[in-house]
Amino acid sequence: MGKLLIFVLIIVAIWFFFFRKKKSKEEKIPKEKDSHYMIECENCKTYISKDEAIFANGKWYCSKKCLIDKD
Ligand SMILES: [Zn+2]
Repeated sequence: MGKLLIFVLIIVAIWFFFFRKKKSKEEKIPKEKDSHYMIECENCKTYISKDEAIFANGKWYCSKKCLIDKD
């Protein structure tokens, strides 16, 4: 009986892992899975890779400087 309970817990844990992973993937910003995707900076129009870009107020910036100087 104890072994069966552990087996069920493992199945539930695996199911939860995949379910959470799938859900979080859907909630991410589109194309975020591709870190080499190039983003145009809203301020200086420079293209930078997405993993280096800063996302703020629905727009992308190449650096904190551009984020602050956006006006
Ligand atoms: Zn910039």
